[in-house]
Amino acid sequence: MNHDSGQCPICGGSKTDGVITFTADLQETLVVVRGVPATVCALCGNEWLNDETAAVLEQIVEDARKKSCLVEVAQFSALVQSTAASPLHAA
Ligand SMILES: [Zn+2]
Repeated sequence: MNHDSGQCPICGGSKTDGVITFTADLQETLVVVRGVPATVCALCGNEWLNDETAAVLEQIVEDARKKSCLVEVAQFSALVQSTAASPLHAA
């Protein structure tokens, strides 16, 4: 993997590919998404999400808000598989 972003802009530590647990507290609803792929700083632990990942998480948060349940827990890989199943490329 050759990312152009080698250094953490905050502490100068090295960034590595990792998997995080994303949480969003919407006051009425707590959203937890496990297994989210992210870039993580090995030194300070700051996390970066790519646009695609952020868009999926945004969708989950929006759905949870509509449902207005207390806690929404999701697995990222399951969500990505369902989006990937849509026929983007007709084989
Ligand atoms: Zn850092």
